[in-house]
Amino acid sequence: MFCNKCGSEVSEGASFCKNCGNKLIDRKKYDLKKWLKIFRMVLIIFIIEVIATAITSQLEFDLIWQISRIITFITIPLVIIPFITCTIISFKNKEKVPLWFTILQGIIIAFIIIFIISSIIEKKQNDKLQENIEKYKNEDKTTYNSSYITLQEFNEIEIGMTYEEVVEIIGGEGDLIAEDAYGKTYTWEPSSNSGIYSVTMSFYNGKLTNKFKF
Ligand SMILES: [Zn+2]
Repeated sequence: MFCNKCGSEVSEGASFCKNCGNKLIDRKKYDLKKWLKIFRMVLIIFIIEVIATAITSQLEFDLIWQISRIITFITIPLVIIPFITCTIISFKNKEKVPLWFTILQGIIIAFIIIFIISSIIEKKQNDKLQENIEKYKNEDKTTYNSSYITLQEFNEIEIGMTYEEVVEIIGGEGDLIAEDAYGKTYTWEPSSNSGIYSVTMSFYNGKLTNKFKF
């Protein structure tokens, strides 16, 4: 590098010029300081904005709150860019950053870790919830049963089934409407969305011989 006062060549990283004694400004160092200044400035604006948003959200001025919220969102990248720049410069130049910046870096890293962990936990919980919903749905299908006959239940019933088997499918006893030498005839009330108006079934010796729907 060269001295910015006399122009003579000086060794890299020297703090004083050997020729004129000028205090040399390390360009890299200067960059970090400049970016830290920018970062600090936007960070203060951002914090003020967040506080303003929080306060205005409690007030009745909806428009002001909306504007404040929008400004806060716009400020986020303005904070992130100098923050990342400062981090990269300090890492590349192996320069020490002020303590407040190190603390902020720690907080941000902690937040990222917490965010990742909570996302994983949330995903697992969602999967479990989904699984439980599926399980519940399946259980629902088998255990939930009204005494009303559905079209599906009607179709499941086969000739030759016992009265007990039929009752198990439908979920309820039928009303005995006729009993004679040819057996017993029962009726079941169809469920309202089955599209059926009436169901009758005849049993002979306890076995289904006929089923009707209309
Ligand atoms: Zn010089």
